[in-house]
Amino acid sequence: MDKDLLKKLAGEERFIPGIYNYCDRWCERCPQTSHCLNFACSEEEFADPETRDIENEAFWEKLSESFRTALELLKDAADEHGIDLESLEAGPSDEELERKDEMAKSHEVCRAAKVYSDIVQDWFASPANLLVASPALDGEGASLEEAMEVIRWYQHFIYVKLMRAVRGELDEREEELDDLPKDSEGSAKIALIAIDRSIGAWGTVYAHDSFQNEKILRFIAYLDRLREEVEKTFPAARSFARPGFEKTDLGR
Ligand code: SF4
Repeated sequence: MDKDLLKKLAGEERFIPGIYNYCDRWCERCPQTSHCLNFACSEEEFADPETRDIENEAFWEKLSESFRTALELLKDAADEHGIDLESLEAGPSDEELERKDEMAKSHEVCRAAKVYSDIVQDWFASPANLLVASPALDGEGASLEEAMEVIRWYQHFIYVKLMRAVRGELDEREEELDDLPKDSEGSAKIALIAIDRSIGAWGTVYAHDSFQNEKILRFIAYLDRLREEVEKTFPAARSFARPGFEKTDLGR
């Protein structure tokens, strides 16, 4: 996409600023695609079915085109605001970044989320854990297939978002943000939503397959403890208003 088209799209009123920062990236199930610039750009960029195939050369071509457009936009914005990009101070050192990454990785909630993602991976990989849908529940609530889709979607997502939350909080300690909404809280909020939905999905699996009930209850209990720990670590996360999803001062 060329930069003029991107600028034109970005100027459209229907888009909610920053809506894609605290979503779950599940565009296929998102109720706000028409308000998301990120979605509009992907549709514009990857409209040709060929470009949807990541093994297709066209996909990588498009990506490098996006990369060039982003650099052009950066240069234009710097010129417009009189910023000399060459003179910008370097960010934190590699050592500092690495130190904070390690601190985040060893944080209790991140370690627990990583364990969850690994045990779910192992569980689904084992043929012994093949799940069977109950015909008695046909047409009742979410199907077994849908529940498994939800579990799989959020399985790694929870860890990624908690890493961002914990990592962000380390940076925020060094900044003066006062009353501004905190990125760490927004990231923790979407991680909590993912945990809630995963618990709901495991509940559906539980209802379908009575042979695996004991194991499934362990997943639910594990996620419930993780949920409590995240709420303790980020007490303001639940009340964070995600633009476009909860009521914000944007009035949507
Ligand atoms: S806000 Fe919705 S459409 Fe936009 S990136 Fe997130 S999930 Fe996708």
